[in-house]
Amino acid sequence: MTPEYVWEHITTRGDEAVEPSVALMRHWFRVLNTAEFGTALPTPKFQVYEDFDAKECGWCECDENSLLIRVNAPFNRERGQFLATMMHEMLHLMQYGLTGDMGHDEWFNDRAMFLSYKYGVDV
Ligand SMILES: [Zn+2]
Repeated sequence: MTPEYVWEHITTRGDEAVEPSVALMRHWFRVLNTAEFGTALPTPKFQVYEDFDAKECGWCECDENSLLIRVNAPFNRERGQFLATMMHEMLHLMQYGLTGDMGHDEWFNDRAMFLSYKYGVDV
C-alpha cells in the first residue's frame, strides 16, 4: 500500500465512524508499515481499551520482551483520528527501535508534524 492510498482513504472516508478493534489495528498497521515505514517496524501486540478520563488517544509500551500498541476506543471512533493515533504510536515504535527511548522530543515531533501535514490529520 502506498502513501497515496492512505491519503485517498483519509480524504474520502476520514469522517466516517469506526469501531476500533484488534483486527482493524492489525490491518492498518500492515498498510501504514508499508506506506510510511518501509515495512521496517516489527509487529507488536495490539490492544483496545476504554478510558474516558484519560487524556491520551493511544499508548505504545515497549521493552526488550514485548512491544504493545494500545488504542483508547472512545477517542478513536472516527476513521481519520483512528489512523492518526495508529501513526502516532507507530512512530513511537520506530523511535524505540532506533533509540531505545520514547517521548515527544524533537525527533518525534518533526516526524509527527510531517505526517500530520501530509495526511491532514493530527498525528
Ligand atoms: Zn506519544
